[in-house]
Amino acid sequence: MHYGTAVFEGIRSYATADGGAAVFRLPEHMERMRKGADMFGIEFDAERATQATLATLRANGHRDAYIRPLTWMGTGSIGLDVDPLTQHLMIATMAKVVHLGGARTRLTVSPWKRNPATSMPPLKLSGAYVNSILAKREAKQRGFDEALFTDDKGYVVECTGANVFMVKNGVVTSVDHRDALPGITRDTMIELSGAESREVTLHELLDADEVFVCGTAAEATAIAVLDRREFGDNPVTRELAALYGRVVRGQEARYASWLTAV
Ligand code: PMP
Repeated sequence: MHYGTAVFEGIRSYATADGGAAVFRLPEHMERMRKGADMFGIEFDAERATQATLATLRANGHRDAYIRPLTWMGTGSIGLDVDPLTQHLMIATMAKVVHLGGARTRLTVSPWKRNPATSMPPLKLSGAYVNSILAKREAKQRGFDEALFTDDKGYVVECTGANVFMVKNGVVTSVDHRDALPGITRDTMIELSGAESREVTLHELLDADEVFVCGTAAEATAIAVLDRREFGDNPVTRELAALYGRVVRGQEARYASWLTAV
């Protein structure tokens, strides 16, 4: 609690047509959480956390849910040379998913810079999210829904809780940046759209036909406004978002391996 040395995940389950539910890309989320826990010497048993996740969903009777595992430690010392004396894991499932601004998401470039990967790894370490919260608060105070991080050289990094894509002349491009969280939704969208992945400048983003951001909570959210730039219709984003919606609900047999039945 003092230093932010906990690790979390954001995962979703969806109701499936057979009356059950499935968790989307659960092993990938668990693997990212294990990497984060490794950073602090917290032992993370992915199989145990997987079973606990499924048990919690069943106990809560949740089908469409947001899942929040969090692991933290007791250190027995106030110093910075933390050693996990006791280790804890909690899993909460919530029926309500906190979205972005909805269909008309308004994005603004943040005056805050993203934690550079040379200062801390782009993993879901709790303390790292102070950076996201500062940017989000500042954006909201100026009447926007979400903040966009750029780096000192003018390259796009990511949003406070989502990765960035653009569409230009029918070409889908996923923003690649070493300081950005390697998003599981980003990986999914690349697979679904055949998007190229490369570094993108803010200038290019402002010049795109469509911009969307994606994440477990955000799914694929079209950007209506980026500061003074207004985007028009977004047919590519719409189609991709619809495909994603079918994939996560088990309506696309090709991608059934991404689902873990509850
Ligand atoms: N970037 C940040 C900073 C995030 O917190 C998230 C949400 N986990 C994402 C990107 C998107 O990642 P994912 O698609 O794995 O949810």
